[in-house]
Amino acid sequence: CGIIGYVGDPDYNMPGESETLDVLVDGLSNLEYRGYDSAGVALANGSVEVVKTEGEVDSLRESLADINSSAPTGIGHTRWSTHGPPADRNAHPHTGDTDRVAVVHNGIIENYDNLRSELTAKGHEFESDTDTEVVPHLIEEGLNKGLDRPEAFQYAVDQLEGSYAIAAVFAGDHTIYATRQDSPLVLGHDDGAAFLASDVPAFIEHTDQVTYLDDGEFARLNPNGVTVTDSTGTPIDKSIRTVDWDP
Ligand code: GLU
Repeated sequence: CGIIGYVGDPDYNMPGESETLDVLVDGLSNLEYRGYDSAGVALANGSVEVVKTEGEVDSLRESLADINSSAPTGIGHTRWSTHGPPADRNAHPHTGDTDRVAVVHNGIIENYDNLRSELTAKGHEFESDTDTEVVPHLIEEGLNKGLDRPEAFQYAVDQLEGSYAIAAVFAGDHTIYATRQDSPLVLGHDDGAAFLASDVPAFIEHTDQVTYLDDGEFARLNPNGVTVTDSTGTPIDKSIRTVDWDP
């Protein structure tokens, strides 16, 4: 029910040693008011590392205590179950058959049953009961066809019906790929860092410069900034607003 994403320049000025994790987990705490039953994060560096658990953000914090990661890119999620009971395996982020990509999702993929059958017939193996898990498998399918990462992300999203805010990170890529349809997503801008969340409080302590993503728009975030396009890849000139929000 909540999404947070962060991608920062290694020199981005933030206190603490594992900056990315702090931004993600604090962001999830700030989204707790939305309600949830599980929480998780994915860190992307040379590989993608996922830690997730049923229960509170504080339990996630404990599971993360031993991780000393210098990954500058990550996404986090608090889940309000719609498909599959609250359980560690159903918590987000979800990966495909390999750990090349991790995905978080708010909303409902209405046609997940068909997609799952098709993917299973192609040899994909599913680990969760969620509707969400088809997304990373579809992205992998795109990569397997030789598409590059933005194309593979687009290939997956083009097949989805329903409501979604989706964010994905890839091994070896300091970029977050995101899109939305009938589910909120807001981008945050700062010098040397970019943020993404379902709502502003998730990152307001870092920046008040925001862009609201609209339905059908695709965003790519990296430490140098944010690009927004339509589904054909045509850039959209989005305005940046200053939000007035008490941190
Ligand atoms: N439908 C997804 C699930 O059940 C996402 C739920 C949410 O928005 O948190 O895992």
